Amino acid sequence: MESWEYAMDHVDVVVIGAGLSGLAAARTLTRAGRTVAVLEARDRVAGRNHGAVFRNGVPVEMGGQWVGPTQDAVLGLIDELGLRTYPSYDVGDAITVYDGAAHRYSDETFGLSDEDAAEAGRVWAAITVTAETVDLGTPWTTTGAPELDRQTFDQWLLGETTNSVVIRFFRLLVPAVFSAEAHELSLLHFLFYLKSGTSLAILVSTTGGAQESRVVGGAHLISERMAADLGDTVRRNTEVTGITQSESGVVVAFDGGEIAAGHAVVAMPPTLAGRLRYSPPLPAARDALTQQFPAGSVIKVNVAYPTPFWREDGLNGFVMSLDDAFNVVFDNSPEDGSCGVLVGFLEGRHAREAAELTAAERRERVLADLVKYFGERAGEPLDLLELNWNEEQFTRGCYGGRLGAGVWTNYGRAVAEPVGRIHWAGAETSDVWNGYMDGAVRSGYRAAEAILAEPR
Ligand SMILES: Cc1cc2nc3c(=O)[nH]c(=O)nc-3n(C[C@H](O)[C@H](O)[C@H](O)COP(=O)(O)OP(=O)(O)OC[C@H]3O[C@@H](n4cnc5c(N)ncnc54)[C@H](O)[C@@H]3O)c2cc1C
Repeated sequence: MESWEYAMDHVDVVVIGAGLSGLAAARTLTRAGRTVAVLEARDRVAGRNHGAVFRNGVPVEMGGQWVGPTQDAVLGLIDELGLRTYPSYDVGDAITVYDGAAHRYSDETFGLSDEDAAEAGRVWAAITVTAETVDLGTPWTTTGAPELDRQTFDQWLLGETTNSVVIRFFRLLVPAVFSAEAHELSLLHFLFYLKSGTSLAILVSTTGGAQESRVVGGAHLISERMAADLGDTVRRNTEVTGITQSESGVVVAFDGGEIAAGHAVVAMPPTLAGRLRYSPPLPAARDALTQQFPAGSVIKVNVAYPTPFWREDGLNGFVMSLDDAFNVVFDNSPEDGSCGVLVGFLEGRHAREAAELTAAERRERVLADLVKYFGERAGEPLDLLELNWNEEQFTRGCYGGRLGAGVWTNYGRAVAEPVGRIHWAGAETSDVWNGYMDGAVRSGYRAAEAILAEPR
């Protein structure tokens, strides 16, 4: 044996990425008695969860934040870690803006006219019925998968309705859920994602849905608490560059060194996972998959005010606009209402366009849209915080990766199938709550359990 082999660290499992998925995997493995090293490129843990603080000291989330019913994995973890959730504010009317007018509503019409609401309801029902047919574990075996996968959601939509308001409505809902345009994902992927998160209604709802609750102090605390428990196991500022595997183990190379292990868990967004250097090279199907797993485009903007003044007007803060760029807005005030916070998203093409502006120009446009929705007081914030997730070197887009036409049916099998001693985790690899924090946690547990089931 060469002398360098004695010098190399050795653990049972190397986990790459200290987001929710990597940390959940490491937690499970260490509890089962395995030695683990978690290598994290950033100087912080939590990946796509990131906490910030307004000038007035109020904390706010710049990444993932909401949890809701049936997200049992992340809710269980929150509980286990001694964290607490509180309900998102959801009292009063919401607003939908289209064709230059704001429409208040408190029912299931989304503020659309009777005729448009009926047509939107018909299209919605067709989506719901078809989504139910998707086989979550193996979407490519769903009945009619080739047909569902060869078209984009937008192509299907245009074949389903000619109502222009309804088309614009769904072209807004898709970026609101995926940070990608309706023509950037296949119909099969759209349906898979809906069923994975239960249904379209659950995905877009606050009370009773995916936006129901927030974590006191911010969702990034879930990762920070797990990392604190793991102690020295988590190594920050450690960017992994490649993985070499043999029949007996893996060697993971990072900036400044190498570490040997029995197994690796790659808990990174798929596109970034595809940028690591693998020796021997990955199977062609896995590489082709990561070439075609782009993340969405999103700039998240939190705006603080002295009070949640819109509540005085009987508004719950939820806005969708078919006319504007800053077109999905929620009340994001702290639990005690000590100040008012509106959070909104520039998504898909709007994010890409807004990224070309200066921060001052973006601020002006965001505030102009908020004034349109909530009146002049919205133009005088205490503070405004924004984060363009596409510019984050170790994320490169959010909310997560999505699959375009033909990818699920050609390469879907490679999403989570281990390659030798390399296991894949991350929100994109989960069949339940894919793309969400809950899916990330589940994927970490799944990868860890798979390794525990193998001989060391
Ligand atoms: C703006 C925004 C809003 C969202 N809203 C919600 C929401 O409300 N509810 C919800 O459930 N989900 C939401 N999500 C999605 C949710 O945040 C993610 O699904 C989840 O956090 C993903 O966790 P992960 O562990 O799979 O990946 P990540 O959090 O991306 O973790 C991957 C880790 O790998 C690290 N890494 C990358 N490259 C390397 C390398 N070469 N070497 C070492 N480490 C590396 C990264 O730094 C990162 O820490 C949102 C996401 C965003 C960005």
